[in-house]
Amino acid sequence: MIIEKIPLLDLQPEIKEIRGEIMAAIENIIDSGQFIMGPDVKEFEKETAEYLGVKHAIGVNSGTDALVLGVRALGLQAGDEVITTPFTFFATGECISHVGATPVFVDIDPRTFNLDVAQIEKAITPKTRMIIPVHLYGHAVDMDPLIEVARKYGLTILEDTAQAWGSEYKGKKAGAIADAGAYSFFPSKNLGGFGDGGLFVTNDDELADTVRMLRVHGARKKYHNETVGVNSRLDTIQAAVLRIKLRKIDEWNEGRRRAAARYNEMLAGIEGVLTPVEAGYTKHVYHQYTIRIDGGRRDKVQAHLGESNVGSFVYYPVPVDKLPVYKDLPAANCPISDLCTTEALSLPIWPSITEDVQARVVELIKQAL
Ligand SMILES: *Cc1c(COP(=O)(O)O)cnc(C)c1O
Repeated sequence: MIIEKIPLLDLQPEIKEIRGEIMAAIENIIDSGQFIMGPDVKEFEKETAEYLGVKHAIGVNSGTDALVLGVRALGLQAGDEVITTPFTFFATGECISHVGATPVFVDIDPRTFNLDVAQIEKAITPKTRMIIPVHLYGHAVDMDPLIEVARKYGLTILEDTAQAWGSEYKGKKAGAIADAGAYSFFPSKNLGGFGDGGLFVTNDDELADTVRMLRVHGARKKYHNETVGVNSRLDTIQAAVLRIKLRKIDEWNEGRRRAAARYNEMLAGIEGVLTPVEAGYTKHVYHQYTIRIDGGRRDKVQAHLGESNVGSFVYYPVPVDKLPVYKDLPAANCPISDLCTTEALSLPIWPSITEDVQARVVELIKQAL
C-alpha cells in the first residue's frame, strides 16, 4: 500500500463514527435557540463529574480559563510563588502570572517528562502557596508523594490535565485526585470539541461555588455582581458534541494505547531512540506518543519525516522558563527539561492509526538515522 501523506493527528475517523449523532444534536440546539447554558451543559457537567469520580465539574470556555479561574478561586495572589514544570504549554505558567504570582520551575523526570516530585521540596520558600503539576502527554504525575509534600507545607494542588482526559493514577482519574483539576477540550486533545472548551473540577463545595460565580462575571445572582469575573461559559453546542464523544473516549484511548504498544515494538532496539515509558502507577492515554532521539539528531529525523510528508512535532521547542515573557525571572536550573526540548519528538498518533502507517513512520526514522 502506498501511503501519500501522514498527518500528526487525523480527527476524521473519529468524527465519521458519530457524525450523524452530532449533526442531530447541533440541529436540536439551533431549533431550541438555547446556545448559552442550554441543557447539554448541565448534562455534560453531570456526566463528566460521574466519569471522573468528582463532586463538581464546571464547564468553561477553555482549558486556560479552567486554570486561571482555578488559581483565582484557590486564593492565589500577587507575590505568591507556585511550583510547576517548565516542560509544558505556556498556559500552565500563564495562569500563575495572570494573578501576579511567580512561577518557580522545577525540573522533570527524563523518563516520564513530568515534574520530578523528589526535587519539589528544595524549591519551597515561605512564599510558596501552590503546586501545578501537568499530566503531560497523557501520563499521570506521581501524585502520592506530591500530595505528601504539599500537605507538609500547607500547599494546594491544581492538576493541569489538559492532555490527560481518561488517564489514571492508581485507579483514580488524573485531574480528580488533588484539590482541583483543569481540563481542555481544544479540538486536538483526546476529548476534543469543535472549538474551544474546558472544565474545572473539585470536590470542594466552596471552591466550586467560587468558580461558578467567576465564570459569569462574578455574579451568583444575575445583575448582582460581587466581584470582577469573566465571561467563560462552555457553549451548548460544544457540550453537546463532547457528550457524544464522552461515550466513546475509553474505546478511543484504548486505540491510542494499542498504537503506542505497536510503536514501542517497532522502535525497540534502534540505537539512540528512547521510547516513552508508562510507570506502574499510571494508565497512559498517549495524547502524544513522544520519543527522544539523542546525539543532536532529532532535527535531522524531523526534517526527513517532513520531506516525506509525514507529520511530527516538537512539544516543546522552548521550555517555559526560557520564554521571552519570563526573561526577568531568576534563571531556573532545569537541565533535563532543556535537554528534552532538543530530543523530544512526537509522532503521528490517533485511535485508529493503522500498523501500515506506523511502519512507514518507523521506516523513515530508521532511514534518517
Ligand atoms: C492545551 C493545554 C492547555 C490550554 O488549554 P486550552 O483549552 O487550549 O486553553 C493548558 N495546559 C496544557 C498542558 C495544554 O496542553
